[in-house]
This record gives sequence, C-alpha cells and structure tokens, in this order.
Amino acid sequence: MQSFTCPACNARVYFDNMFCACGEPLFYEPEARAMWNEAEPCANREAIQCNWVAVPGETLCRSCAMSDVVPALNVGDNRQLLERAERAKRWVLANLSNWNWFTDADGGMRPRFQMLSENTGGGRAVQIMMGHDNGEIVINVTEADELIRVQRQREMGEQYRSMVGHFRHELAHFLFDRLTIAPGFLDEFRALFGDETADYNAALQDHYANPKAPGEDFITAYATSHPHEDWAETVAHLLHMVDFTDSFVSAGLSMKGVPDGYQPYADENGDNLLNIAASVAIAINDINRALDNSDLYPFILTPRIREKIKFAHGWISDHAARGA
Ligand SMILES: [Zn+2]
Ligand SMILES: [Zn+2]
Ligand SMILES: [Zn+2]
Repeated sequence: MQSFTCPACNARVYFDNMFCACGEPLFYEPEARAMWNEAEPCANREAIQCNWVAVPGETLCRSCAMSDVVPALNVGDNRQLLERAERAKRWVLANLSNWNWFTDADGGMRPRFQMLSENTGGGRAVQIMMGHDNGEIVINVTEADELIRVQRQREMGEQYRSMVGHFRHELAHFLFDRLTIAPGFLDEFRALFGDETADYNAALQDHYANPKAPGEDFITAYATSHPHEDWAETVAHLLHMVDFTDSFVSAGLSMKGVPDGYQPYADENGDNLLNIAASVAIAINDINRALDNSDLYPFILTPRIREKIKFAHGWISDHAARGA
C-alpha cells in the first residue's frame, strides 16, 4: 500500500488515520487515492471509524455502500469487530483500485457484502459460512478477533489467515465472475486450473473428508479442493505479494534487485513482479527471524504456481483493456 501525506502539514500519515498529529482531520478520497483534510465524511465515520469520503450526493463512502448487512452494533464486541473488518475491506478495495476495479471509470458490477457476526445477541453463537455467491460476499466479522482467528488458523492447519486475506479470497471469486465475459479468459483458465463446472459441493465434501497436500501444483491445501478455490487462493496470493512489495517501496526501503522508483501495481511483467516480490519476502523473513516472529510470507512458488499467478496477474491488472 502506498503511503500518504497530510495535505496541511505534509507529515506522513497512514491509511486508516482519522486525524494527523497536527490536528487536521483526514479523509481518504478513493478516486484520487489520496488524503484530504476537507471533505464530506462517510456517515460511518463516528460509528466505525471509517475515514473515507462520502460518495458525492450520498451519505456513505464507496466501501460502506457495498455492505448490505451489518451486525447489531450494540451486541457484544460487534462494533469493534465490524470496525476492523471494514478497515480490512477498505484496504483491499483501495489495493484493487490501483488496477481500476470499482472506480468511477469501471462501469462493471460491484460486489455486495453481508458483514455477519456470530454474536447476534441470542446467547448462542451462530455458524457463518464465508463465501461468494452471485455477487454477494459473506464475511464473518468475528474473525476480526485476533485470538479467535489464530485458534481457527491452527485448527485448519493454515500457514496464513487474516481478515485482509479473507477479503482478497472472496473478492477473487467475484472478479472471476466479472472476467468470464472477457473473450479468451475461460479457455485459458481451464487449461491451467481445470474445469470449474465440476460439482462444487461434492468437491468440497471430498476435500474435508480426504484432505490433500498442496504439493507442487497448488499454493495451499484449500486450493486443491476445486478450480474455483484454486483461483481464489492464487489471486489472494498475487494480491498479498504485490501489496507487500508496494509497501516496501512506499516505505522508502530499497535493496539489490528492486529498481529505483519501482511501482509494483504498474508492472505489466508478471515474471519481474514475482521475482522482485520473492526477494523482498526473503529479506523481510530474515528481519522477522531476528525477533523470532513468524515469516512474513511462508510460501514457496513452484513453476506451476508461478504460471497460475502470472495468468491471474495478466487478467486482473488489465481487465478493462481485455473486455471485463
Ligand atoms: Zn498534518
Ligand atoms: Zn465508509
Ligand atoms: Zn473460496
């Protein structure tokens, strides 16, 4: 993610800052991808600390307007959970706007979100299946609780699980639906990922009954379950890599192999992007080990996985020109 400056004093400010240290209020303007200090605020500014600018003529910002359902905020920790989940959603939407998804110039369908909590006030936790169906994305905001998320990560045997990761994964399913209208997309997709019309429910049941290791062909174990899930996991990893690389250069860091002024979101060469992201990941892994923290990016990109990520990168970064 790019870094931002306060329009009043030029100090460095962060994506979710409501105010600058100089006292100026901050409003993120998603079309300009910049911080403003004067704007019509999103109506959720006080309730869930949304610092985005309201869509002109409307009360909510572009991101909050996509949330059709939110939990009862006066129940349990729901307000705080929604606040964190919506922050992750804004982050991922801002990432995708670098490739012109859901901007003013993008006339295509936008996702709808159901932001649900396991705590509905009824005394017993309700089960929530995260997922995407026909433009509607269900997110379980309860996973914005750090302890619950880590516990589930262990139960599922996953190397990485985060709220930002959930949004990247579920939005990937939505992007797939958008891309299917682009000439050539499905043929190329099936050659790499397999036939996505295969029975989804049967495949998922089989995955949970007989879990498979990812091996050389898949980025995660979950990706082995069905071509749709392979795609969503692959796209989520593309988004992880381009964004931590963007954060690296935006923070003013440099290292051998990363060209001066490098702009990961503008790089059309998937091989180049993956090589640079891999070297950044290895360097940050080393730094994390100095503090005995877990690796920034604990995944290995085999040639087959790289092919899939490059395919996703080509289509997602260039969807407008390719007719999606
Ligand atoms: Zn300032
Ligand atoms: Zn908002
Ligand atoms: Zn999925």
